[in-house]
Amino acid sequence: MDGSPHPSAERCYYSAVATFYVQNFGCRATQADGAALERQFEERGLERAADASRAEIVVLNTCTVTASADQDARAAIRRVYRENPGARIVVTGCYAQRAPEELAALPGVAQVVGNSHKHQLVELVLPMTITPSPQRDPVSGSNNFVALDSLMLGRRPTTDDRRPIHVSDIFAHTELLAAPVFDAANQRTRPNLKVQDGCDNRCSFCVIPFVRGQNRSLPLGRILGEVETLVLAGFREVVISGINLGRWGRDLDGSDQLSAVSSQLSEASDSLAFDEDANIHRSGRRPTTDDRRPLFEDLVRAILERTSLEKLRISSVEPMDWSDELISIVAGSPRIAKHAHVPMQSGSDAVLRRMHRKYRPWHYREKIEKIRAAMPDAAIGADVMVGFPGETDAEFEETRRTVDELPFTYLHVFTYSARPGTPAAAMAKQVPVRVARDRNRILRELAAEKKQRFMESFVGRRVQAITLGHDNTEEDFTEALTDHYLSLQLPARMEPNRWVSAHVTRAQEGKLFGEVEPAPIAASSTPSLTSELAFAP
Ligand code: SF4
Repeated sequence: MDGSPHPSAERCYYSAVATFYVQNFGCRATQADGAALERQFEERGLERAADASRAEIVVLNTCTVTASADQDARAAIRRVYRENPGARIVVTGCYAQRAPEELAALPGVAQVVGNSHKHQLVELVLPMTITPSPQRDPVSGSNNFVALDSLMLGRRPTTDDRRPIHVSDIFAHTELLAAPVFDAANQRTRPNLKVQDGCDNRCSFCVIPFVRGQNRSLPLGRILGEVETLVLAGFREVVISGINLGRWGRDLDGSDQLSAVSSQLSEASDSLAFDEDANIHRSGRRPTTDDRRPLFEDLVRAILERTSLEKLRISSVEPMDWSDELISIVAGSPRIAKHAHVPMQSGSDAVLRRMHRKYRPWHYREKIEKIRAAMPDAAIGADVMVGFPGETDAEFEETRRTVDELPFTYLHVFTYSARPGTPAAAMAKQVPVRVARDRNRILRELAAEKKQRFMESFVGRRVQAITLGHDNTEEDFTEALTDHYLSLQLPARMEPNRWVSAHVTRAQEGKLFGEVEPAPIAASSTPSLTSELAFAP
């Protein structure tokens, strides 16, 4: 027996602390971190409080992708302090990594834990009677705080006895915090599993690499284990996500990972090679499993081959990672949702270059056209940014025209927000807010029209969907999500997490409406029900 305390002893010790609450902001990756923190608190015997006002420890897991994300986090900290002044408020996440002192100065904040120390947060928070000495890290015992100005992101953080700051060089970290996320509204369906964190790109507007660090991947065996656990728990659709999901595997040891994947991989993928300089997949022979690192395609195949998951949905993948092979795997398997989210950001070559994006507009267009050709009725979405520094009317028009011409079915339109320390924040010709808002509106209206046309293309057809839940306040109906990422309203009261086949009767207010057809269907054995019809832009 080792010297560590028995779990029940730990539980007893911490029962004096009792309750915690984790509030998440921002993207799926942040929510996955939050879910992992909740899991860690619970493993130590703490109880989850119903809301922040009733918890003794409140963790605010922040986002810093825009100035308004920062503002939301500060407002939440003030609110928690006002409503629950006795709580120990711990601020973590991307904002905590970027500007720890700013957060530590807010009233009520007890500790600031950057992403660099997030995996140790629970240990840092629980021994509350231990006051860390200034300038010393209680976990490592060493002074490992680093100057954030080395990351171009601000001044060196300081610590004091009352409000310790735990932040160090995020690029020195290789840990990956992950646990499945269950939507608050849909607790019993579609868990989201983060399999990758960090990013090695340096888009000039983006602060994410500086707060999340280098690309790192959850090992294949752990992913397969998590997926199978979710399947055994009864989940039917699982979403895999990451900060730069398509880069999964590039940091892993190929021989370890690929030995877990069937030999079918090398045969099926011989026709592709990856050009690291151009970051573009090209035709040609791909290295064998012995001499290459695993690719995202390997992960997708392994999930299909090694787990009994009924439906896999792939979240955002950068355009250069949509290889011919990946498109063909997604198109060819009824167990993968027909959905491609491909960040575009701009349709202007000049703007893409200023953004330091690694593809040209024609590469992007080619990928979208290939995806559409392979999957005639797939949901295709993109992130688009308006108001990037120096974006002229003509450059915006190139983006608008690209959006108009490509077969998108939905868009996420963002207005550029300067992030301190990023190259774009120092660029001349920042676009006036009024102009950027106008451009945002134009694209959102265009996207709404395209989505309506896409939805109308399903009227009169049969679709497959998974039920999400029903609204108790309204007359009986159930919301479901189609394979094609459309919300479907069904006039029946149904349990969440069931496959249904439905006949679509109308498309209205951003939703499909339909009637349930008699027999439930199994995703794993049912080919795409609607693949015979194509959707044009
Ligand atoms: S790909 Fe670009 S925008 Fe996306 S996380 Fe990496 S640096 Fe940021």
